[in-house]
Amino acid sequence: RKGNVIITGASSGLGLATAKVLAETGKWHVTMACRDFLKAERAAKSAGMNKDSYDVMHLDLASLDSVRQFVDNFRNSGKPLDALVCNAAVYLPTAKEPTFTADGFELSVGVNHLGHYLLSRLMLEDLNKSDYPSRRLIIVGSITGNTNTVAGNVPPKADLGDLRGLAGGLTGLNTASMINGGDFDGAKAYKDSKVCNMLSMQEFHRRFHEETGITFASLYPGCIATTGLFREHIPLFRLLFPPFQKYITKGFVSEEEAGKRLAQVRQLPSPPPSSLSAAGADLYFSLSLLQVVGEPSLTKSGVYWSWNQNSASFENQLSEEASDPEKARRVWELSEKLVGLA
Ligand code: NDP
Repeated sequence: RKGNVIITGASSGLGLATAKVLAETGKWHVTMACRDFLKAERAAKSAGMNKDSYDVMHLDLASLDSVRQFVDNFRNSGKPLDALVCNAAVYLPTAKEPTFTADGFELSVGVNHLGHYLLSRLMLEDLNKSDYPSRRLIIVGSITGNTNTVAGNVPPKADLGDLRGLAGGLTGLNTASMINGGDFDGAKAYKDSKVCNMLSMQEFHRRFHEETGITFASLYPGCIATTGLFREHIPLFRLLFPPFQKYITKGFVSEEEAGKRLAQVRQLPSPPPSSLSAAGADLYFSLSLLQVVGEPSLTKSGVYWSWNQNSASFENQLSEEASDPEKARRVWELSEKLVGLA
């Protein structure tokens, strides 16, 4: 049978490109879990996705009720779950004031971490029931949360501190809206949320890999300066960031190179790169994610994957904070309370 994969935030960027390529392998049915149903349907159509290869289900990660509703709806569809890809994210680098989810959490951590945390915890049961040979839970991380890298050292740096803000619910009322209890900073909140993503994946691995055999992994796919993620940034940044990536950090991936790299994915029988023209960068991104979802050699659990200049995958090192087991345990326990599981 076909594998069933859920991809959150599949209405644009990496999520959409990955949904399309996975669907085109003929080996996967994709559930696009999106907050804007119409936008996702339109995106799938204009990407040329075959109607039978996907469906769109409503999921707003900024509401815990919506997450629970999504899980019920997916279960009612009767499909088994073989892979869950937590990809959606918001990035609000220019916000002066925090905004909040329906449950009152600061939006970046609320959506990127807490919404995905609840979703992953609930859907672990579904992954566990599946008879698919390699079941995977994948979270998209980021180099920016990793302070052992050049990119991770651009201020404001990720820092979860003693987690006092998270313990207080990130409400911005009596407690701070930032995890470490500090003043709101949108760029930092995003990086902190990505550290939480990477910590949760490791904690999932420690708690559940042996018992369930599920692969838990996070990845950093490379910097893609052209996706929607940067839509909230100031115009000057949007103008300068792609050339900066291209000439200074050399992290930018061209469309041509992306096509070449895509062609290297062995498990894709006939990827026609020409039909995948859209943004080359998205392709490269989706290539990374694809390998982590479908590549038979990448089944190792508890790993943070990256790719080198030659498109070879390797197990990357996380920063001290993003690999601290004690912090991972505390983030897990505090998050569990906030989403109503404990
Ligand atoms: P995009 O902005 O293109 O995609 C983000 C997706 O998340 C969109 O589909 C968006 O939906 C969705 N989303 C946002 N808020 C919610 C919500 N409340 N509920 C459900 N879905 C939501 O960005 P990218 O494709 O670049 O980002 C994908 C992932 O890659 C993210 O996890 C990001 O952190 C990561 N990443 C990106 C890098 C880059 O260089 N671009 C670098 C490293 C990591 P909608 O279409 O409705 O807005």
